[in-house]
Amino acid sequence: METKLIKISPENPEPQLVEEAARILKDGGLVAFPTETVYGLGGNGLDSEACKNIYIAKGRPSDNPLILHISQISELRPIVREIPLAAQMLMDAFWPGPLTMIFPKSHIVPLTTTGGLDTVAVRFPSHPVAMAIIRASGLPIAGPSANSSGKPSPTRASHVEFDLSGKIDMIVDGGAAEWGLESTIVDVTGEVPVILRPGAITKEMMEAVVGEVFIDPAILTKPSQDLRPKAPGMKYTHYSPKAKVTLVRGSREAVISKVNQMCHTDGVEGKRTGVLATEETKGRYQADVVLSLGKRDKLEEIGANLFKHLRKFDFLGIDTVYSEVFPEEGEGLAIMNRLNKAAGYRQFDAE
Ligand code: AMP
Ligand code: MG
Repeated sequence: METKLIKISPENPEPQLVEEAARILKDGGLVAFPTETVYGLGGNGLDSEACKNIYIAKGRPSDNPLILHISQISELRPIVREIPLAAQMLMDAFWPGPLTMIFPKSHIVPLTTTGGLDTVAVRFPSHPVAMAIIRASGLPIAGPSANSSGKPSPTRASHVEFDLSGKIDMIVDGGAAEWGLESTIVDVTGEVPVILRPGAITKEMMEAVVGEVFIDPAILTKPSQDLRPKAPGMKYTHYSPKAKVTLVRGSREAVISKVNQMCHTDGVEGKRTGVLATEETKGRYQADVVLSLGKRDKLEEIGANLFKHLRKFDFLGIDTVYSEVFPEEGEGLAIMNRLNKAAGYRQFDAE
C-alpha cells in the first residue's frame, strides 16, 4: 500500500485536506494525524474491519483496546451506557484535552474496538487538526498512538513514517505534538475515579475538581501476577528503544560519577553509550551521545522530548542508555511511568 503524506497547517487546517483525510476514514481506511499528546492512528471506531486493520498495522495485541476520539460532547452519548457524575465534572474541566475516560460501552461499539471489554475509553482531543478531521468524518475515531506496538510513541510525522509507511493510507503532518506523552486515562466506572495511566492531566488537577482520585498501584511497579494493571495495554513492554535503558537514582554528583563509570565499562566492551541528561548536567557526562531532556524544573519540556530522544538513540545505534530520574509526582509521574517502562523497570541506586 502506498502511504500518502500531506502537510497541514496545525493552527488552521486547510478544509480540502481535512476533507480528504475524513473521506479515507469514512471509507474504512487508516489516517495518522497529530493530537496534542502524540500522533494517533485513526480509523472508524464503529467498524470492526477498520479496527482490525489498526491492530494489524501497529502489530498490536488484539486484547489491548483502542481509545475512541470525539470532536464534540454530543458524540459521547451514543457510544456509552451512562455518564457518571465524576465524568461529567471532569469533562467540563478538562475536555477538550489530554484526558481519556473509561465508560460502560453502548451496543454500537464493537468488541474489536474495546479488546473484548464491556467498557470503552473516550477522549476529546484539543488539537485543531485532530478536531477538524474527526468532526468532518462524523464518526468516533479509534486512535491509538501511531507507532509500531512496543516502540516509543510518535511525536513527529517522521516517526509515524518510519514505523507505518506502506501500512496505512495517509499521514497528516501537522508538526510536533505539543505534550509528547499519551493522555491521562481515568476509570470513572467505580465510586472513586482511578488513574490507569498518568499523563498531562495530573491527579492533583483532577482532585481539585472531583475530590479523591486513586492511582492504579500497577503504574510505578513492574506488573506481576498479583498486580495486573487495569488498562490492558499497560502490561506490555512499551516505549522501548533497541538500547538497554537503565534509570539511575541518587544525588546529582553520585549519579554523574556512576553513569560515567558505567559508560566507561560499556565502552571497553565495545558498546555505544547514551545518556538522558538535563540542561543542568549535560556537560558532565562522558558517553558517546548525551541528550538533554530539558531543564529539570520544566517537566513539560522533559515530557515533550522523552520519546523523541528514545527514538534518536535507536537511530544512532546506541546500545546502552542511562537516564536521570524525576520526582514521581504531578507531571513527573507520567514521565517516570514511561521511563520505567522503557527501562523494563531496571533501576540502579548510585548512592
Ligand atoms: P494507546 O491507544 O496506544 O494510547 O493506548 C491506549 C491505552 O488505553 C492502552 O493502555 C489500553 O489498554 C487503554 N484502554 C483502552 N480502552 C480501555 C478500557 N476500556 N479499559 C481500560 N483501559 C483501556
Ligand atoms: Mg500506544
